[in-house]
Amino acid sequence: MVTFLAGGTGTPKLLWGAEAVFPPADTPVVGNTGDDVEIAGHLVCPDLDTQLFLDGGVLDTETWWGIDDDPHRTHDELGALAERAGLDSGPRYLPADAQTDGREIARWRRFSGVAEFMHIGDRDRAVHLTRTGLIDEGHTLTEATRRLCAAFGVDRSILPMSDDPVASLIHTPDGVQHFQEWWVHRNGDPAVERVEFRGADDADPTPAVLDALDDPVVVGPSNPVTSLGPMLAVDGIREALDSTPVVAVSPFVEDRVFSGPAAKLMAATGQEPSTAGVADAYPFADAFVLDSEDGTDLDRPVVHTDTALDSSADSERVARAVDAALAEVA
Ligand code: GDP
Repeated sequence: MVTFLAGGTGTPKLLWGAEAVFPPADTPVVGNTGDDVEIAGHLVCPDLDTQLFLDGGVLDTETWWGIDDDPHRTHDELGALAERAGLDSGPRYLPADAQTDGREIARWRRFSGVAEFMHIGDRDRAVHLTRTGLIDEGHTLTEATRRLCAAFGVDRSILPMSDDPVASLIHTPDGVQHFQEWWVHRNGDPAVERVEFRGADDADPTPAVLDALDDPVVVGPSNPVTSLGPMLAVDGIREALDSTPVVAVSPFVEDRVFSGPAAKLMAATGQEPSTAGVADAYPFADAFVLDSEDGTDLDRPVVHTDTALDSSADSERVARAVDAALAEVA
């Protein structure tokens, strides 16, 4: 078994065509839940769902979120209704006392359903309703995710990093914004003063996660701040990584990032936005997979390959490089 740690883009792209090297049934994925939000009372887990939909063969691989060809009549109607009612369509946080009331899953990440600032398709919504329903019935997020895997015919273990709520919050000169407001609604534009993983101090890794982290681990080419950061902030996960072989794939080619806000977030949190900065952020990584054009000199073993992940053939090539790096350290 080899366990992958994942956000919502880089690692799913790496696993896209990696079955021959890492068979799904033997390759659990631990997913970041710091990006999760509740909208209209429904728990949305973007990173878990990208992996779920990818493995279930329904992911929209143009956007890397949501279900391919998913109709979005409810979402469109929510927007139209808000406009007719003269309601602002930006993210609408619930009041402070409502953030922590009721369900245990809530913690400073609760939005009203008015206008629905995130784009949620109709089939996608059915997943959020089912997940929230199972949690309301007393199941954990881990159990709900296992049921959803069964529904999509997925034989991989997709494991939320914790069953406890963690909220990735971006502190900006305009105030605190949930990561989803900052990234999805404001395109990552506001300056970043600080990143907080609210709830992480009280969150425990699940037994299933700790079990999976006994095996060798691959950190895919994820955003070190908002995809790996929440996991590393949960007590017990970093310790587990210190005592198992770990290979990390860089989301950079030297100082050029493939996509997303990783460079901005690293710079804002005092880290060098580059492969060298990623290596500093991952002292527990025993070896790295870097792009063939990445000449960064690291103090740990490196396997080079073309790390662009634009097709399932690309992922198989990078997966073979990961396997070679694992062979050096496992
Ligand atoms: P998020 O949850 O959407 O932020 O996604 P992740 O943290 O899983 O992944 C984001 C990271 O994936 C970014 O920092 C990108 O640089 C990286 N990434 C995206 N496409 C590629 C690619 O083709 N190759 C590599 N090596 N990294 C990529």
